[in-house]
Amino acid sequence: MSASGLTPTQIEVRDSVQKICRAFPDEYWAEKDRKSEYAGDLHRELASAGYLGICMPQELGGTELGVADATVMVETISESGAGIAGSQTVHANVYATIPILRFASASQKERYLPLIISGKERTCFGVTEPDTGLDTLKLKTKAERKTDSGSGKVRYVVSGQKIWITNAQAADRMVLLARTTPLEEVNKAKPASGLSLFYCDSSLSSQYIRWAGVFFDKFEVEEEDLIGSEGDGFKIILHGMNAERCLLVGEALGLGYAALRRASAYARARHVFGRAIGQNQAIQHPLAQSWCALEAAKMLMLHAARQCVVSFGGCMYECMHADGSGGLFSVRARFDEVIGVGKLGDNGHREDDSDARAEVGALCNAAKYVAAEAAFEACERAGESVH
Ligand SMILES: Cc1cc2nc3c(=O)[nH]c(=O)nc-3n(C[C@H](O)[C@H](O)[C@H](O)COP(=O)(O)OP(=O)(O)OC[C@H]3O[C@@H](n4cnc5c(N)ncnc54)[C@H](O)[C@@H]3O)c2cc1C
Repeated sequence: MSASGLTPTQIEVRDSVQKICRAFPDEYWAEKDRKSEYAGDLHRELASAGYLGICMPQELGGTELGVADATVMVETISESGAGIAGSQTVHANVYATIPILRFASASQKERYLPLIISGKERTCFGVTEPDTGLDTLKLKTKAERKTDSGSGKVRYVVSGQKIWITNAQAADRMVLLARTTPLEEVNKAKPASGLSLFYCDSSLSSQYIRWAGVFFDKFEVEEEDLIGSEGDGFKIILHGMNAERCLLVGEALGLGYAALRRASAYARARHVFGRAIGQNQAIQHPLAQSWCALEAAKMLMLHAARQCVVSFGGCMYECMHADGSGGLFSVRARFDEVIGVGKLGDNGHREDDSDARAEVGALCNAAKYVAAEAAFEACERAGESVH
């Protein structure tokens, strides 16, 4: 990714992450792929350089940067050749912590976040179920509240199944969305209620990085690990979704840029009829066109991620100037004023700025779509150019 459009901080992030990733060459990733191994050593290196807390407050060990900066970080990891296997070692640890930061109690934040930021614990995000993907409000995994008759202690007993949970096998904990009110008893006027968010143990024996299925059979979660109020889980997880969309944009773009770089190198090195094949426009033009598409998607990504900062709570403390000039200032009061936790509407957004939030969601989704198309095409063309 070129430096165009990046802030000085983002260039710094890019350069320093590039340096870390140089220790993980193509051969490393080929071997990880062959052995189906989780790249725990990259996760460790990024944690010790402070990157897992990129969007977290300093008092918890974070660096208080924004979603756009985090997106540049994962783009750089992906572009280094690590691809999705590399960027996904940190992905959930960046976006799934945002709802925790915003809705967990002070003592929960102290218990959970420094461990994630320092890399001592890894987390994953447990929402999707085999029969319930996009239709999240129909989730079936249930968490039944039980009070121990002797001690009076409250626990939730979880039963059900999750699927497509990235890094579930490598994670120590899971941000889990489960049903605390049976679907048929959910108030029809408040369809987003009835699901609750937990931060539960999820340590499994395997170390492979894959998109796993997870089964819960009367699995007990302590009441202390309920995040926010019971029934508000769906509204709470929405606070991390735009950040996740932006991170995925970065990861896709990284793949596209990496593919083009390899194709260009090949096009320069491969000589036919006495000259490099890259001198032929049939090779040059599709690659150049793909680079244009990636750059355009990058601009949309940066724009979306910055709006995400202003309106959605993706970043904790940095906000753009209200005039959109791009200058950053770090003022907690401004953060609270713009995106502080207010009364949540039934769509999970603050009632007073739902239009702005809907616009940011559309922008982040648009960036994800445009980047996915551009990256796919870049990879396809890179492949075609070298065969
Ligand atoms: C690589 C990967 C990693 C993932 N990681 C995680 C993770 O870590 N945690 C997690 O919880 N989930 C994860 N997921 C799951 C992902 O979020 C779901 O795949 C997603 O929510 C879609 O659910 P589904 O696949 O069941 O699609 P479905 O809900 O079955 O939808 C399939 C398709 O139907 C169409 N469709 C559905 N509803 C509508 C509608 N109302 N209007 C128009 N079209 C519609 C769309 O084209 C949609 O793409 C991951 C998925 C993948 C592929």
